[in-house]
Amino acid sequence: MAIPGRFPASFTATVGKRPAPVQPPSNMPAAYDQLVAKLKRAHTLGTVADLLGWDEQVNLPADSADVRAGQHAVMAETQHAAATDPEIGRLLAEMETPSGALSADELVTARHARRDYDRATKLPADFVTEKAAHSSRAYHAWADAKARDDFAAYAPFLEKHLVLAHREAELLGWGARPYDYAIDRHDPGMTAAQITALFAELKRGLLPLVSAIRASAVAAQPQLFRGFPVESQRAFLREVTERLGFNYRRGRIDVSLHPFCSGTGADIRMTTRFDADNPLDSLFSSIHETGHGLYEQGLPLTQLGTALGQAVGMAIHESQSRLWENQVARGRAFWKFFEPRFRALFPAQLAAISSDALYLAVNAVEPTLIRVDADEVHYNLHILLRFELEQKLFSGALAVRDLPAAWNALCGEMLGQTPASNREGVLQDVHWSSGGFGYFPSYCLGNMVAAQLWATVRRTLPGLEEDFARGDFGRLLGWLRENIHTQGRRHDTLTLVRRVTGEELSPQPLLAYLRERYGGLYLK
Ligand code: ZN
Repeated sequence: MAIPGRFPASFTATVGKRPAPVQPPSNMPAAYDQLVAKLKRAHTLGTVADLLGWDEQVNLPADSADVRAGQHAVMAETQHAAATDPEIGRLLAEMETPSGALSADELVTARHARRDYDRATKLPADFVTEKAAHSSRAYHAWADAKARDDFAAYAPFLEKHLVLAHREAELLGWGARPYDYAIDRHDPGMTAAQITALFAELKRGLLPLVSAIRASAVAAQPQLFRGFPVESQRAFLREVTERLGFNYRRGRIDVSLHPFCSGTGADIRMTTRFDADNPLDSLFSSIHETGHGLYEQGLPLTQLGTALGQAVGMAIHESQSRLWENQVARGRAFWKFFEPRFRALFPAQLAAISSDALYLAVNAVEPTLIRVDADEVHYNLHILLRFELEQKLFSGALAVRDLPAAWNALCGEMLGQTPASNREGVLQDVHWSSGGFGYFPSYCLGNMVAAQLWATVRRTLPGLEEDFARGDFGRLLGWLRENIHTQGRRHDTLTLVRRVTGEELSPQPLLAYLRERYGGLYLK
């Protein structure tokens, strides 16, 4: 995560025409190398903290939680000290002088280091402590309120989250645009105004498609999938993810309650979960996490810890997971290769399921009130709803106490269903419980980016789906490596999309993809 910092005009890239240093030879490389060493140390501490978090979800014995809380606290303290090391500030200041001629790549590292350093040092310690304590209390209050379906009990915590979010924006110089700051933390450079325009265009195209599919007589039959032994599911997903390109010598997959992907390219930890009666859930969540893992494994290893070895932001990260999960693994070519393998592992379970029924189940469309259960066609509507409400909460147009009614009204309008409880409505997601505002839009932006990349790569690499039908995904991975993964943070989200696809980010490729895939199945 990064936040914008002030940058002196003299601190500019010197691509092509490097100006003569004022005092040659410059001592800048030494300062730069020292900075990188500091950044790498802070990054290494972060990877240790990640590992503690992964272990907590995967292995931690039930009664050992207190020990882990203590370990987290010590790590957080150590990480904060490393990130706020005054030496980083001194080195940055040394580079931000007129004689500080950095190469374009060095500039990328220094610019992001400045943002991160300012963010870590500009917030007063008492604010940071207050926010951390509130997040922890609010998380438990949310879990309790959700279990008891009692929004009123959680409302004061959400109100305080909003107060803190406004104050944080103010402290960092974003007082006039607090929601833009919330977005920028996840997708640097993007604004609510840009997202509003993109989402409005998406909504106009999506609603007619959703109603048409809802009226269709075609329906998937997920109830046919019963009794898939977990060990065989594990073998299948290992084969699939390995063939997609995941390097198991620098990563692994384990089981946790909620699937996730953590770690860095040098050591990726993915998780999944198994349900004997829902093998496709495990398979697709694993492929999704593999997409995240492939991105991380494709970042330049030697640059880990600097912006050159870091993902652009959440939208691009999500575009990678969604592209593999949806455009690739829900496609016909993928199943042409993997269906025989799937049937060989589960001959009895799949005996009564035709190829067409299997493909329809892979692309099942069914409205649901729960975002994480939503299919590709409905998913974006869940995000549009949350984005609209977050903006109103930040502007003051909507009071927290009126949030459930506003949520339910929008749900009815967009999804054609109204939650019977707040547990299935406004309390369903974990994000707001820790004040994680501005995160939701990344999911939908990621879907847009994925579809736009997909349209581009199909044009650029003819015969790609014939590759998939032979079980070969190497050309796609190579293209993503070259165009996205190895780029690190050289470009922000919108610039990267423009450079790679030749077009501004637009919802039209996503709409075209959804119409093609789901129209073909449901609107015959
Ligand atoms: Zn994801």
